[in-house]
Amino acid sequence: MKVRVHATEARSRANGPGARFVVWMQGCTLGCPGCFNPSTHDASGGREVLVEELAREMARAKEAGSEGLSLSGGEPLQQAAGAVALLDAARALGMSTLAFSGYTIDEIRALPHGNDVLARLDVLIDGRYVSTERLATGLRGSANQRIQLLTDRYKLADVEATPVAEIRISTSGELILTGVNPLKIRR
Ligand code: SF4
Repeated sequence: MKVRVHATEARSRANGPGARFVVWMQGCTLGCPGCFNPSTHDASGGREVLVEELAREMARAKEAGSEGLSLSGGEPLQQAAGAVALLDAARALGMSTLAFSGYTIDEIRALPHGNDVLARLDVLIDGRYVSTERLATGLRGSANQRIQLLTDRYKLADVEATPVAEIRISTSGELILTGVNPLKIRR
């Protein structure tokens, strides 16, 4: 199975508890005004990657100290079957699982494979980004979004302790900003 991804990161500290392997999925039709990742919207953008290839990258990331997988986007639930396969790969490695979704948990339950995704998640951050309710703390971009603890693997304090932004320098020297509040660094 292939998934269309915008980017991956082997070791991020600003996308959930601890160090995490992050997959930014490509494609989102939800159109939240003020979205910080408009380049992830085009469902034909990014690149297609085999889940098996990402699973191998994830295994190497775990060896290097990443404790979990975070799915972001773009909208992971718009490639729900691929998300399920990625979450299964993470679980097989004993890694924790977290996803950001613009859908609410009730909307996810009604989507194809939605319940399969939920059954494989430890943490879900759900709901559209609403710029007038901008919050940018504890992984929530806006106040309407909720942190759903779907297992007892993490406590709320673990999730809320996530730094709101990080800056990384790629091997080619490129500066990469990420996290729920990258503007904190951009300023
Ligand atoms: S759901 Fe996420 S990626 Fe999609 S428009 Fe909203 S904030 Fe942007």
